[in-house]
Amino acid sequence: MIIATNRHAQVNVNLGAIKQNVKRQIDSFDKDVDVFGVVKANGYGHGMVPVAQAILQAGAKGLCVAMIDEALELRQQGILCPILVLGIQEPSLAALAAEYNISLPVGDLNWLKQASSYLKPAQQLKIHLAVDSGMGRIGFMEASQMPEIEDYLLNHQNQFEVEGLFTHFATADEADDTYFNYQVSRFNAVKKDLRLKPKYIHMTNSATSLFHHEVHGNMVRIGIGFYGLNPSSSPSAPDLALPYDLTPALSLTSELVFVKEITPKMGVSYGATYQADENQWIGTIPVGYADGWSRKMQGFKVKVGDEYCPIVGRVCMDQFMVKLSKPYPVGTQVTLISDNPNDSNSVTKVADYLDTIHYEVICGLTPRLKRVYHNSIESE
Ligand SMILES: *Cc1c(COP(=O)(O)O)cnc(C)c1O
Repeated sequence: MIIATNRHAQVNVNLGAIKQNVKRQIDSFDKDVDVFGVVKANGYGHGMVPVAQAILQAGAKGLCVAMIDEALELRQQGILCPILVLGIQEPSLAALAAEYNISLPVGDLNWLKQASSYLKPAQQLKIHLAVDSGMGRIGFMEASQMPEIEDYLLNHQNQFEVEGLFTHFATADEADDTYFNYQVSRFNAVKKDLRLKPKYIHMTNSATSLFHHEVHGNMVRIGIGFYGLNPSSSPSAPDLALPYDLTPALSLTSELVFVKEITPKMGVSYGATYQADENQWIGTIPVGYADGWSRKMQGFKVKVGDEYCPIVGRVCMDQFMVKLSKPYPVGTQVTLISDNPNDSNSVTKVADYLDTIHYEVICGLTPRLKRVYHNSIESE
């Protein structure tokens, strides 16, 4: 997708805030815990490479991504740290992963056997054994499967280095910890009898880091917390409060590109669903659902200058309209998403309005929006 560099619309990313969030979380763990930053999905919409560099500068030891293409892009940009891919990849990619020193997850024996046939002589692939302790997504389901896997791996140590053993929690953001504890016990059952000694045991995402701090191995995988947002599935009424402040790093801003007065009966946007009953000032903003600004945002109030103005009519692919109280000049700044958590157009309020989670709002901002980086907080 083409980046619209000439349009006055941008995702602003505060790398200073990200570094501060990283440092706070690193400080919350003992020194022997290696903190990895999760930068999948374009760094949760913030721009993968600049965010990855900031996270590493702030002291993280490695990075996690969802798929190998993201890992390869990091390597292409000269990032040399350990990188773990979190999703299952084609076994045929084993050689490419080994060549670029990228670690892959493994969830069944068959995958290992296939990957083994693709590795070139003298190549060794770093792997993390995924344990499905209750997420129901990827990984070995039962402790009883492990002896066979371990036998295979002990016989193929030249091809596979078992770097990690990990699991992922389904309910770490919820106050009721029954299911969480069930997953912990299932994971422990696998860990207990393991003959292999992986360098890393890990199970911590942001929610686990923030709300179950006592449960962690010697590596953690932090995503949303580094971007300054609560992992909760109900953004503005989280089950669990953050133990310390996080600073949101992203805002979305644009400008009025057109301002006009409409007369009664004049409709606004597709379907002419909005009609003025009196003369009204309407402003047009050059952002739409092709940028990840959902059609469901109709009715939400964005900030024009110092005033919150409602979106009227349907959000189009590349533009939307707001009702203004007066004829603001073309070029007036519009804040669609604020990085101030107290504003009524914060990421949290947008997520609520869309009846979704923080994650979906930020990683849905498409690459057409340019990313502009700043450092508003001097990180200590
Ligand atoms: C995405 C992901 C994470 C990061 O989750 P956050 O909630 O953003 O911290 C960690 N582990 C796995 C397996 C993931 O898929």
